[in-house]
Amino acid sequence: MNNEILQGLKIIIREEDILVDEMMSRHTTFRTGGPASLFLRPADEEQALNVVRFLRRQGEPFFILGNGSNLLVSDMGYDGVVISLERLNNIFLDGDNRIYAEAGALNSVIASFARDNHLSGFEFAAGIPGTIGGAMIMNAGAYGGEMKDITESVRVIAQDGFIDNISGEKCDFGYRTSALKTGGFVVTSARLTLTKGNPEEISARMTDLALKRKEKQPLEYPSAGSTFKRPEGYFAGKLIEDAGLRGFSVGGAQVSEKHCGFVINKDNATSTDIYNLIVEVKNRVYEKFGVTLEPEVVMLGKF
Ligand SMILES: Cc1cc2nc3c(=O)[nH]c(=O)nc-3n(C[C@H](O)[C@H](O)[C@H](O)COP(=O)(O)OP(=O)(O)OC[C@H]3O[C@@H](n4cnc5c(N)ncnc54)[C@H](O)[C@@H]3O)c2cc1C
Repeated sequence: MNNEILQGLKIIIREEDILVDEMMSRHTTFRTGGPASLFLRPADEEQALNVVRFLRRQGEPFFILGNGSNLLVSDMGYDGVVISLERLNNIFLDGDNRIYAEAGALNSVIASFARDNHLSGFEFAAGIPGTIGGAMIMNAGAYGGEMKDITESVRVIAQDGFIDNISGEKCDFGYRTSALKTGGFVVTSARLTLTKGNPEEISARMTDLALKRKEKQPLEYPSAGSTFKRPEGYFAGKLIEDAGLRGFSVGGAQVSEKHCGFVINKDNATSTDIYNLIVEVKNRVYEKFGVTLEPEVVMLGKF
């Protein structure tokens, strides 16, 4: 990493929030991944904005990290700057039925906040183990709900380096994608519109969905959730199962025996194991059914 960049960053954020060669295995739910040349933790939106502007001016590649729950980082790491938004995690009530949440706030924390404020509509996301920023980018969804349904607006750093507010409609949310993703926006916060509800009923729904997840998903192992997107007209897990790949392993990575749509880190897997497993599953499903599986998991670094 160029020393000029390091010195420039030290003017923008505190030195203790600049980590050198930080292992990404500490920041991904797969618990794998090599070092990021620099790992930054801006304290607020202004610092994040200044960091993004500075790195763009320098032509230095960067990657925005939420909770790393949909992310596979190469064992060789990432030769660039990872910007973690973990410290932008404030959540406020905004009027009667609106929540304003900074990008690094965890969905689970927002869900509890909503329940405590008698607001319903976010229960579906309580068990999605990411940040609201990541959820906006991916249009995260579960059990019949998706971010599209509850997003009033999203505050972003646009490509031109200025802050902008984008209405939910203009986010063009699709299945695990959005205009935020394709347009290279950095999400700094989101405004969610919910409805008044009864906290006991909200709590009961959250508990019910958590139990469903526990029953169906291999939550006892590190993973990134569903590894593949749902191909039009099929279910990825069913195709993988029907290709005879339940429990199929490469190194320490395995197609979960509990849910074939999940690749898990069964036993000290490397990212290479996980990647090779993904490629093999994709090939075998294509050979057997002629269906192309697209990874939902975002890949960072060289594979
Ligand atoms: C056990 C388990 C269950 C899961 N269940 C579900 C589920 O039911 N439904 C579902 O949709 N997903 C699910 N996931 C996947 C994952 O939690 C979601 O995709 C989540 O929205 C990712 O959020 P994150 O903050 O972890 O993002 P990350 O994994 O950190 O990042 C994902 C992508 O978003 C980008 N990004 C993150 N934050 C920002 C930001 N503020 N601005 C710009 N770009 C950003 C990153 O650069 C990257 O491209 C599950 C994962 C696990 C491990």
